[in-house]
Amino acid sequence: MEEQIFGGASAAKRPERPVIEAMKRGFLGRCPHCGQGRLFRAFLKTADQCQVCGEEFHHHRADDLPAYLVVFIVGHIVVGGFMGMEAMTDWPGWLHLAIWVPITLIMALALIGPIKGAVVGLQWAYYMHGFGGEDDALETHPEA
Ligand SMILES: [Zn+2]
Repeated sequence: MEEQIFGGASAAKRPERPVIEAMKRGFLGRCPHCGQGRLFRAFLKTADQCQVCGEEFHHHRADDLPAYLVVFIVGHIVVGGFMGMEAMTDWPGWLHLAIWVPITLIMALALIGPIKGAVVGLQWAYYMHGFGGEDDALETHPEA
């Protein structure tokens, strides 16, 4: 069996990148590298690269992790809130719907961008996918 070097052969020589700082910058929609340039060019579309430091963002593979995290977070808050209010009040069903459905939509739309930014920041900080400089194709298609 062939030895596997995770993170590529150059991994040991790489300077450590600040994970929490990068995720914070991504959460605020900023470049995880410099914290200045914009990470997104549209609602959930990342820019191809940072306009300030030139860091390329097209490598990111956030995929559906941000959506999963939003469902997890919003689900716990809304279901917890609904069950708490259901236990403490005698609100009719329509009132619960009128309150919790808009809260769910607003929270999901408000969180999806920042959480995607944080996921991209995490991937950048750990040199994941193309952020370390090597071709990601070897990771997903080893036979290629
Ligand atoms: Zn930058």
